Amino acid sequence: MTLNIAIIGAGPAGYYTAEAALKRWGGTARIDIIDRLPTPYGLIRAGVAPDHQSIKAVSKRYEATNLGAGVRFVGNVVIGRDVQIDELLKIYDAVVLSVGAPHDKPLGIPGDDLPGVLGSGAFVGWYNGHPDFAGLQVPLSHHGAAIIGNGNVAIDCARILAKTCEELETSDIAQHSVEALRQSAVRDIHIVGRRGPHQASFTTKEMGELGHLERAQPLVKPGDLPPIEEDAALDPGDRKTVTHLRNFAATPRGDKPITVHFEFFRRPVAVEGNGKAERLIVETTRLEDGKAVGTGELHAIPCGLVIACIGYRTATIPGVPYDEGLGRFPVDAAGRIFKGLYASGWARRGPSGTIGTNRPDGFAVVDAIGADVTAPNGGDAPAALDALLAARGVRTTHFGNWQALDAHEVSRARPGAPREKLVSLAEMLGLIG
Ligand code: NAP
Repeated sequence: MTLNIAIIGAGPAGYYTAEAALKRWGGTARIDIIDRLPTPYGLIRAGVAPDHQSIKAVSKRYEATNLGAGVRFVGNVVIGRDVQIDELLKIYDAVVLSVGAPHDKPLGIPGDDLPGVLGSGAFVGWYNGHPDFAGLQVPLSHHGAAIIGNGNVAIDCARILAKTCEELETSDIAQHSVEALRQSAVRDIHIVGRRGPHQASFTTKEMGELGHLERAQPLVKPGDLPPIEEDAALDPGDRKTVTHLRNFAATPRGDKPITVHFEFFRRPVAVEGNGKAERLIVETTRLEDGKAVGTGELHAIPCGLVIACIGYRTATIPGVPYDEGLGRFPVDAAGRIFKGLYASGWARRGPSGTIGTNRPDGFAVVDAIGADVTAPNGGDAPAALDALLAARGVRTTHFGNWQALDAHEVSRARPGAPREKLVSLAEMLGLIG
């Protein structure tokens, strides 16, 4: 009997789950990939840096999945608003939450609500043309910007602030961001880490890129680097990353107008300013058992923009258990919330790993569904969902609509750029007609 599966979230986790289900059940399963946006691909479209097009090429693989037998994309549907989770559980044999972790983890320091303090989800969404953040005010008139966190998202944000518009022109960065960055006065970009170079989670390629920017030079204080012999204990990837940092520390200061300052062993304690962010106050730290411990020594980093790149939380969904401490759904080892309801990707494991890390998640969840659903309900779930949404006047989008929108975006791209994104829901729905 046909198995009906709803996957909520059309990002990498959702598509790898669909791919695993297709592999297991072939065309005998009906798979609806439902997303709150009219467009598919989640973080590939709105999270991966616009100047990292080779990573975005994986969307071709997701397209092939979506064109597989029995697979549909159902866009512009918000779970909890347009349809409830218990309704989906009645219609489908299994519901998989592949909704990612879209909410910025709060900084939780005094002044973190001042204008000019942004989470990386918002800043990245802004330069990637995510409809939620297209209207974000990003203050770029101060010479300083502080980026908190020592992960790849921090590097992405620093690189976007540091690149020239010419370097960005051939990416799919949103036009509103290119225009704002063209006027940017930011010259000192501070990447603030509460621990040291050996504890950072940057990766080699991303770190290496910082050494090849047209108008920006990375600066590392030699005193922040541990003795070189200690690099031997690192795994090979981290050793290469730290080698880049050592090279930056050894490179004489040139005349590039922008400096990316690595501020290791600095814990953010407050954002201060008169009605807006004007400086980030940091406390020097030392390591104790691998943890950052404050020394009481405070410094001010002058900045009009603070971007917290410190991790994300999954959004709550009415009717779904949520672990506040973990910031995601509580799951067992296979990704099961309870029989019939599952999670994959960041909604299952938290915000870590590369795009490909989501692939095994999909297989694990599909195995759990296979074990749990021994007697499919036998209904026509896609028809039931369509009827329910139509009765509520919900305007859905399907994969053909996306293909038309995709072609439109490609056709209006800047010379050399892959596409120019539409950044408003109204514009997208208007184009689809
Ligand atoms: P991440 O790698 O987990 O880094 C988060 C950083 O935030 C850590 O340095 C952490 O420091 C710091 N942090 C957390 N809470 C803090 C606080 N309250 N105050 C100060 N610092 C705090 O996360 P991410 O950069 O958001 O990246 C998420 C995932 O996406 C990662 O797996 C990343 O590799 C991946 N990603 C990959 C790429 C790529 O491959 N090109 C690009 C972007 C993202 P501690 O270590 O001290 O906790």
